[in-house]
Parts: sequence; C-alpha cells; structure tokens
Amino acid sequence: MNKVYVKDINSYFDDELCAFIEKFFNDNKLIFNDIKTILLKPNILQASPPENGVTTHPEFIRAVIKALKKNGDFQILLGDSPGANFKNYEKVLEVTGIKKVCKDENIEIISIESYKPLNIDDMVISSVFENVDLIINLPKLKTHSLTGLTLAVKNLFGLIPGTNKVNYHRKNPVDTDLADSIFKIYDLVKDKTIHILDGIIAHEGDGPSRGTPVSLNLVAAATDAVSLDMAICDILDLDREICLTNCSAIKKGYNVNFKLTENVSKRKIKLPISKRMFSPPKFLKSMVAKNIYVKPEVNENCIGCLLCLKSCPVYAIKSTSNKRVIIDKSKCIECFCCHEVCESGAIDLKRSFLHRIIVND
Ligand code: SF4
Ligand code: SF4
Repeated sequence: MNKVYVKDINSYFDDELCAFIEKFFNDNKLIFNDIKTILLKPNILQASPPENGVTTHPEFIRAVIKALKKNGDFQILLGDSPGANFKNYEKVLEVTGIKKVCKDENIEIISIESYKPLNIDDMVISSVFENVDLIINLPKLKTHSLTGLTLAVKNLFGLIPGTNKVNYHRKNPVDTDLADSIFKIYDLVKDKTIHILDGIIAHEGDGPSRGTPVSLNLVAAATDAVSLDMAICDILDLDREICLTNCSAIKKGYNVNFKLTENVSKRKIKLPISKRMFSPPKFLKSMVAKNIYVKPEVNENCIGCLLCLKSCPVYAIKSTSNKRVIIDKSKCIECFCCHEVCESGAIDLKRSFLHRIIVND
C-alpha cells in the first residue's frame, strides 16, 4: 500500500515544514542509494510573486534543499519551463523569489530548453530527465481551468520544452486527451521521481494563474504521484475525477491503494468557473450544451506582449494595429492557455448567457 504523507502546516517558516520533509526522506532512504544528481522541479509558471500562490514558494524549496543536504552530498539542480514565457526565465526566477533561494543555497539553476529535446512515443520531452538520477517534483496545489486541478502529475508537464507545450494542446484539443498525454509523461519518468506538494498558500478559482491565493495550510508528499493527487482530492472533499490526470490514471487501471500518514481536516477550495458542474436533464443537455461555454476576452490591460498569441494552439488570437490582440471566439477551443500565460491580467473569462443561468457562480 502506498503512503501519502500529509500535515497541517501554517507557515513556510515553521520548523515543522523541515521536520516533515526530513521524515519523508528518512522513511524512504533507499531512494537516495547511488544518487548523484537530483533535479528539483518546482512549478515556476510565470513572473508572479510568492504571495500570489501561482508558483512553488521559495521558502518551501529552501526547506527541501536543507533536508536534502542532510541526506548526502548531491549535485542539486533546479529547473522548470515557464509556459510561453520561457524566454524570460531570468525575470520569472527573480520575481518568484526562487533565484535568491538558489543563490543562498548554492544551487545551480538549469533551463529545461538547454537539454536536447527527445521524441519518445510521439511526445517531445526534454532529455533533462535522462541526465539526472532523481527528480524531486515540487508541485503547487492549484485549481486549473482546463484540467480541474494541477497537482503532482500535471506539474511534470513542465518537462516539455518551451512552445512544444502548445503542440500538446494542438494535438489534444479535448481536455481529457490532454490529461492522458500528460499522464504519459508521468509514466515515462515515474520510476525516478518523488513528489512533495506545497499547499500552504494554494491557488483557487480561475487557476492556475488568474485565480486567488488561499491559505490551505497543507503539505503532502509521496513516492507515487497518483496516490498523492487522489489523496488531495479527498482532503478537498472533491470527486477524484475533478482532476483530469486522475481520470487518466483510472482509465489506465492504476492501483490507487494508499493510506494517509495522519488525519488532517477537510479543506474547501473554489473551483474554476469552467469546471463548476451542472446537471440539466439529459434531453436538455444535448440541446443546450453548445450554448453553455466560457470563453476568453481581452480587456484594456493588454500591453501587446503577444504571449497569448504564441500560446494559442488553434491560432484564434491575432495582433491588431494598435498593439493589442483580438480573439476569434468561433475558433477558440476553450483551452485557457491565453488566460494562463497573460501576466497583465488582460484576459477575462466570459460566460455565455446560458452558462450564467445554469451554472452557479
Ligand atoms: S492579452 Fe495579455 S498576453 Fe495577450 S498580448 Fe495582451 S498582455 Fe500580452
Ligand atoms: S483563444 Fe485562448 S482559450 Fe481559446 S483556444 Fe486560443 S489559447 Fe485557448
């Protein structure tokens, strides 16, 4: 039976955080046998300060590094590929506070894109995973407008270099297909990956970047990401299937036999508007489904950076002569990548008339 380590922790500066991570490492000491190089893989989605709950908190990363140093003399690397903004990696690392922690702790920051891309089973993935002995996946607990929640399995999508992520969306316009594709990445690296989740300040609502921070005061760790992700859904009192990568695991017949190391109280999280459920009668559902939607709309905050245009898998976004962008809603497949990458808060999610009537806000 898999173990999912969980604990109530209220602050990144609480000694309990280090103690929790040390216990996880000590109980799973065998993992470190013959390990020389370790990659820390936090969520570094965009240039957002730690208090927004968009990226793994720098002090959470520091606690992991300190605990690791007690377990051996490893070469520790840290890296992620921040969405369409991977070319601004330096700025992203600075704003998130991660650069400072790495400097303080003498940790080398690598770029996922600097490793040769590999084509495996119709997937492009950075060869970084072949160049390290162990990956410590450090996901942030967040809601996600497309995949419901982003937890341990989803965080590994950051091993896909730069704009190749857009191709995944292009090839998999349906959300469950994209989740299956992300699950393949997990399958590929799972034997050399362990997971420690930051849910102290989490992110709720229209995540993964445009929702709101929420103190869930929760940390979790496991050697098996599927168990961890399902345990988090249980703690959040949500159906496990709300996290689409869990559906992929269930479809693949994954063994989800796990137990928690301790009892923690249930938490509530506000789901993205795109994922709030509605259950009209069956006959009505088939008639109205196409009129119930949430689509992006550009507002006056747009600075014309074009990050959204580069992220749109179906070329639904065009630049205009006045240095802004417009969205062709008829082409939009509601992947919400534009909403996720826009750092200016210039994309709103607008609900159709029927969506507003049927789905509770
Ligand atoms: S909507 Fe946002 S991401 Fe797109 S061009 Fe404007 S500011 Fe940039
Ligand atoms: S416009 Fe935005 S939500 Fe629509 S398909 Fe393009 S990136 Fe996805």
